[in-house]
Amino acid sequence: MESKLLLMREQARRRRAELSERLRANFADFIRASWSVVDPAMPLINNWHIDALAEHLQAVGDRQIRFLMINIGPGYAKSIIGSVMFSAWLWTRDPQSKIIAATYARALTIRDSLRVRDLFQSEWYRDTFDPQWEWVKTNEDWLSNTQKGERRALTVRGAATGFRADGQIFDDLLNASEKHSKVTRDDATEWAIKTMSSRFNDMRNGWRVVIGQRLHELDPYGAMLATGDYVHLNLPSEFERERKCCAWCKEHGSTTPIGFTDKRTQEGELLLPFPTPGLWPSPSATSPFAGEILRTATRRGS
Ligand SMILES: [Zn+2]
Repeated sequence: MESKLLLMREQARRRRAELSERLRANFADFIRASWSVVDPAMPLINNWHIDALAEHLQAVGDRQIRFLMINIGPGYAKSIIGSVMFSAWLWTRDPQSKIIAATYARALTIRDSLRVRDLFQSEWYRDTFDPQWEWVKTNEDWLSNTQKGERRALTVRGAATGFRADGQIFDDLLNASEKHSKVTRDDATEWAIKTMSSRFNDMRNGWRVVIGQRLHELDPYGAMLATGDYVHLNLPSEFERERKCCAWCKEHGSTTPIGFTDKRTQEGELLLPFPTPGLWPSPSATSPFAGEILRTATRRGS
């Protein structure tokens, strides 16, 4: 009887080890496994763009891509996947990781920081990964652990005096309502390109993920793409067949280094081909500028 119990425990332990191993190795699997923990109210829509996001972020985690630009509109789970889940996944692989995560608004930054904290504190996370660290800080904008891993949540143009990270995640550098303000655009651009480029622990290996929707021809995303340093994952809400959007794409074409090409072929084809009001609104419902501005901005070669 006792040996049977021991055997069952051993089998359960092995199953957990196999699962955690698989989720550490594969970010797409981590997304699917953690989805209901991060956002129980919203079902995960199994669309191909989820895998496109997952595979490119995985390549950043695997050090195949150093600078990644993801242009995608709101309502496609970009913050949950690119900021919240990606941060948590990196700590499952390396709890010593130091990450800076920034958005244009403090409320959003804190929202996602708390989501990361909640995910780490969830029964699912602790059961699955059995983390060998304890919390040091659980501030709303500053998480740190006993293995010296940290996640600092900043606002764009905000200071993180003296703090350097292994990697940076910028999710929405600009408020859509401020897209016509040259001062705001220029400030965000200067912060992202100049200020934050000195905030890496290791200037040769620091990585950066930038996520956001193109809002203006002269927005920070365009300025960063113009450097030619970024792998560009461009997922406009409506497909554009003719697209020569940035220095990187002009040189390399629209297939990214990990072999991804946009699945769509028809002009204007939607990223999410079905309307799901409330949770996953159609592009026209979420962002009146989505089609027009994006087309204009990319067509002009910014
Ligand atoms: Zn491009």
